[in-house]
Amino acid sequence: MQETVRSEAEKFAGKYNRAPGLAVILVGDNPASKVYVQAKTKNAALCKIRTFDAKLPADTSQSQLHATIDKFNADPAVDGILLQLPLPKGLDEFAAISRIAPAKDVDGLHPETQGLLMRGGEGLIPCTPAGVIRLIEEARAQLKLSPDLSGLRAAVLGRSLLVGKPVSLLLLARNCTVTMCHSRTVNLPEICRQAEIIVAAIGQPQFLTAESVKPGAIVIDVGINRTDSGTLVGDVHYEEVLKLAGAITPVPGGVGPMTIAMLLANTVRAAEKVQ
Ligand code: NDP
Repeated sequence: MQETVRSEAEKFAGKYNRAPGLAVILVGDNPASKVYVQAKTKNAALCKIRTFDAKLPADTSQSQLHATIDKFNADPAVDGILLQLPLPKGLDEFAAISRIAPAKDVDGLHPETQGLLMRGGEGLIPCTPAGVIRLIEEARAQLKLSPDLSGLRAAVLGRSLLVGKPVSLLLLARNCTVTMCHSRTVNLPEICRQAEIIVAAIGQPQFLTAESVKPGAIVIDVGINRTDSGTLVGDVHYEEVLKLAGAITPVPGGVGPMTIAMLLANTVRAAEKVQ
């Protein structure tokens, strides 16, 4: 993915005499957010995307944050704006995300972008859900299965605006029969056992075990959980499920890097649109 993005970014630079630009806004000093921002900036450089960093203190006011967003909205060298979440307490995330110009909404969280997604996948697609779909497509190709997902049963665990809902919409747009599971779902293992595709995004360490997985299913693990011993694990019990799944993504090293690749792909896409 990154090689493709890099070559597209180079083509763009050759044509328009500038690199695609990504603004990265970090408010406060949440350690996990800092790590994510570093990874995004580093990978943007590898893909020949120019980054514009705005590091704001934790006591930034809503209007100061909006002023930063407005500045990037108006800057023709900036094609995409990433506001790293979560914001420090007291700041309104929805208001800030809504302030981003939809054409530069490379994270895909603006209400207009989400509305377009409801219509079946027009506009920029949010990065993590786009990465999930790409991984399913790659897994199907590796397993020598048809790229057509029509009629497949998909169980999506989690119904957040960030992951569960958009993933479900994208699978629905590909004609899957989607069951969205959440904390009140009854008989979740039984629903998962029927699914050819399982996407786990609930933030519960190693929640999905082998008894809930149909042999041969494609299992995409979005979850990132830190155990008491400090190691990172997903929402799926990887070792158990690996034995019977057709394909499974590891944590770390699966959906996380794919999300960054999709962010960079969206930046190039946004750049091409506004030219
Ligand atoms: P949220 O906390 O916003 O949503 C969690 C969802 O999981 C909710 O819908 C909740 O149900 C559901 N849920 C929680 N516990 C259970 C349970 N025991 N059984 C069934 N459903 C349950 O999380 P996010 O969607 O933002 O993130 C999910 C996970 O993905 C996290 O671990 C996060 O760190 C990770 N993540 C990873 C990314 C990446 O790039 N790899 C990007 C974004 C997130 P209910 O609605 O009923 O409360």
